[in-house]
Amino acid sequence: MTDALISSAYSQALEVIASVEPRIAEATRQELADQRGSLKLIASENYASPAVLLTMGTWFSDKYAEGTVGHRFYAGCQNVDTVETIAAEHARELFGADYAYVQPHSGIDANLVAYWSILAHRVESPALEKLGAKNVNELTDADWEKVRHELGNQRLLGMSLDAGGHLTHGFRPNISGKMFHQQQYGTDPETGLLDYDKVAAKAREFKPLILVAGYSAYPRRVNFAKMREIADEVGATLMVDMAHFAGLVAGKVFTGDEDPVPHAQITTTTTHKSLRGPRGGMVLANEEFAPSVDRGCPMVLGGPLSHMMAAKAVALAEARQPSFQTYAQQTADNAKSLAEGFLTRGADLVTGGTDNHIVLLDVSSFGLTGRQAESALLDAGIVTNRNSVPSDPNGAWYTSGIRLGTPALTTRGFGHDEFDNVADLIVQVLSNTEPGTNKAGAPSKATYALAEGVADKAKDAAAEMLDKHPLYPGLELT
Ligand SMILES: *Cc1c(COP(=O)(O)O)cnc(C)c1O
Repeated sequence: MTDALISSAYSQALEVIASVEPRIAEATRQELADQRGSLKLIASENYASPAVLLTMGTWFSDKYAEGTVGHRFYAGCQNVDTVETIAAEHARELFGADYAYVQPHSGIDANLVAYWSILAHRVESPALEKLGAKNVNELTDADWEKVRHELGNQRLLGMSLDAGGHLTHGFRPNISGKMFHQQQYGTDPETGLLDYDKVAAKAREFKPLILVAGYSAYPRRVNFAKMREIADEVGATLMVDMAHFAGLVAGKVFTGDEDPVPHAQITTTTTHKSLRGPRGGMVLANEEFAPSVDRGCPMVLGGPLSHMMAAKAVALAEARQPSFQTYAQQTADNAKSLAEGFLTRGADLVTGGTDNHIVLLDVSSFGLTGRQAESALLDAGIVTNRNSVPSDPNGAWYTSGIRLGTPALTTRGFGHDEFDNVADLIVQVLSNTEPGTNKAGAPSKATYALAEGVADKAKDAAAEMLDKHPLYPGLELT
């Protein structure tokens, strides 16, 4: 019944779309076929449920609702209030947070809200108080200039991009690296692991206002209790960006010191990665920071995407089911299987393994750059992304690594044997790929040559596994 309903919902929706712009309907059908037919190992991607996907396509998209629940700058927001209230309630319950703000449109928006909340709470409010003003509108232009100068001159300490941090954690080309005086902590050059003593030493010397923990490409767990101790010692606010691993927190794989929410004053996340919801962001805060987070609009956001808040509510309801804990544990177990699969076949992994959902394969032992490896794997129907390894000799564009993640294929039902097989396919492809040359005959970091027949063989082996674990089983488009 449900399969038939979902199939007919999408088939009819595509007909409606085709009546206006058939090329978009066609591309949408093709995207499903492509996703069904490839091994998706991109660590930041997943497959949201049909219920989540369907919730995104409604008339909530048409509604403006700037403000917060009960305090909107537009009339007629009662249903948006319902949706936002339910989404926030699920988020608080799921993560055990004092407060949840579900309006951010993306992970980057969530981080901007968090940064400005910390600045507003810790820099602007005390400055206003000193000047005897309630808000910025009461300041003279000259006084405001002083406050503005302070707001723009704070210090932020985050994990460096090449150690696995994110652009928004103080990377120079990002606004976070321009707006703040930033310094970065890395990982130990020998082990590839975070060294908390070094982070602490750097924090003592630099005295940041904000210490950011969290990562996009670090294949290990982080001890957030230790990070909070470091932050407290130097008077910093601990912000954890769990965009990548929120699903493992929601699914209770990361508990105690590894659960960021009880330790950080502010935790940000995306909702579409391991959490398996719609594309979007979210901010969780403790009591102290809740009032400033609540001013995300008008601080940095405009109108919320009400249809996406509705879809977040559906996804969070799913994540509160016991089955999500099984999924999260399987995601972590599968990463271990994948890592072991590589290690038994002699491949190099950054940090020598994994204990989250990410495996970072160093492809230099195959004589390849990340760019060459990524392209060769794509030819074989294996979708990954190239990624820097610590102190990468090939820089951020060509790189020496391939980042792999298990959330998406775990959603399809892949288990230990399949992931061992995936490691085998990847090793087969990379050991049969030769680095290429440029037009002048000099060695190139981009071109490559894949031995005859290897891609087809890998595709056949992948197709067998993919057929056994169909994406959206029961969904048939007419
Ligand atoms: C993916 C990611 C983001 C950004 O999320 P977007 O939704 O793409 O803006 C931020 N921080 C971390 C750690 C991430 O992994």
